[in-house]
Amino acid sequence: MAQTKPLPDVAVVGSGVFGAWTAFMLRKAGAKVTLIDQHGPANNRASSGGESRITRAGYGPKELYTRWSMEALTVYKNFYAQTDPTLYNETGFLWMGRPDDAYMNANLVAFKRLGVKHDVLSREEIAKRFPAIGLDGLTWGIYEYHAGGLMARRGVATVVRHLVKNGLRYEQARVVPPSPGTKVTSVAGIKAGQFVFACGPWLPQVFPELLKGRIRPTRQEVFYFATPAGDPAFRSPLLPAWVDPGDTIYGLPDLENRGFKIAPDGHGLEIDPETQERVVPQASVDKVRLYLQKRFPKLAQAPLAQAEVCQYENTVNGDYLIDRHPEHDNVWLLGGGSGHGYKHGPAVGNYTANLVLNGGRTEDIFALKTKTLYDPTNRSSTIPGK
Ligand SMILES: Cc1cc2nc3c(=O)[nH]c(=O)nc-3n(C[C@H](O)[C@H](O)[C@H](O)COP(=O)(O)OP(=O)(O)OC[C@H]3O[C@@H](n4cnc5c(N)ncnc54)[C@H](O)[C@@H]3O)c2cc1C
Repeated sequence: MAQTKPLPDVAVVGSGVFGAWTAFMLRKAGAKVTLIDQHGPANNRASSGGESRITRAGYGPKELYTRWSMEALTVYKNFYAQTDPTLYNETGFLWMGRPDDAYMNANLVAFKRLGVKHDVLSREEIAKRFPAIGLDGLTWGIYEYHAGGLMARRGVATVVRHLVKNGLRYEQARVVPPSPGTKVTSVAGIKAGQFVFACGPWLPQVFPELLKGRIRPTRQEVFYFATPAGDPAFRSPLLPAWVDPGDTIYGLPDLENRGFKIAPDGHGLEIDPETQERVVPQASVDKVRLYLQKRFPKLAQAPLAQAEVCQYENTVNGDYLIDRHPEHDNVWLLGGGSGHGYKHGPAVGNYTANLVLNGGRTEDIFALKTKTLYDPTNRSSTIPGK
């Protein structure tokens, strides 16, 4: 009988959405896994630590991400059906269009090829279906059916809890970078054969010589405005998740009574995720209110109910980093979520687990060699639409 190669033990450092789902897929393949985090799964400094994240399929010409959105959403739905169905809200997703939007036109090509259920909406149809939206500047829209809001921090906590119940070892520890020129055999006293560093915005601190300036953590602010009492206009189905690419801003309807969520998608100042203060200045609130006046006029005077300060970990063009460390062949680098990675957690985990267990070469778009220096003066969103 043919002998099957034993699977290596794996240590995954970082228990955000990328690390947790990589651990999930490694366990599914039968590997022994230790998951390690310095502050805890989806802690409130982590990029996965916010209340909610959008999932949608449109990625313009980058079809691989569209396929990953579809793959990941299937896994999310199945897993949440068995654990906690409130972790996904299928609100749909609206792309707010202006004339000649090349990215949105590319979405339509991909949607047709991959069978993504959607409607193309006229201005009038947007007004009829979603009455809270002010139409200023909009000429058309695309509505995705299988899209909406994933409950972010609760979702990661649920995956980790499930894994621990089913044999995963979880440790709270801060892992220091491996020493150059030595074979990595353990981290924080935990022995393993393979190591995945899924450290989100901390990744350039862990590997400064490789990643400083190539992954840039930027400050991002998120606002929840209180909605008028008894008014259903800011909940699904009267309001979907949405993006307004022309104004580089996106949002979600009221989920779990937290209020109407809205967040600018342009990149903020470079920050340190460990030490940045998470207080929102009044000037930022005022700026968002100006936008509300135009696009959601009923909320122009709404009180701010809650705010979050988080960070993106941007690569130069928004593509993830999934590659082997150039000097340690049993160390893998995983990150560069760039403001859009949450929805892909299970697909990223599957791809990474397969590389770790079976070897092979990563796609060029995820390779370390393609992560050139990020230009800090260019603050525009790298992947429009979250
Ligand atoms: C405001 C905001 C809105 C977003 N909106 C969306 C959206 O709508 N849709 C979407 O798909 N994506 C969205 N994203 C992006 C998405 O949230 C991120 O891409 C994703 O959460 C990144 O996950 P991660 O696991 O790489 O990093 P993280 O969640 O940051 O996890 C990294 C973990 O590593 C741990 N760690 C770091 N260093 C060490 C160390 N040395 N030792 C031990 N542990 C360590 C940290 O404590 C942390 O828990 C958004 C992000 C932000 C900030």
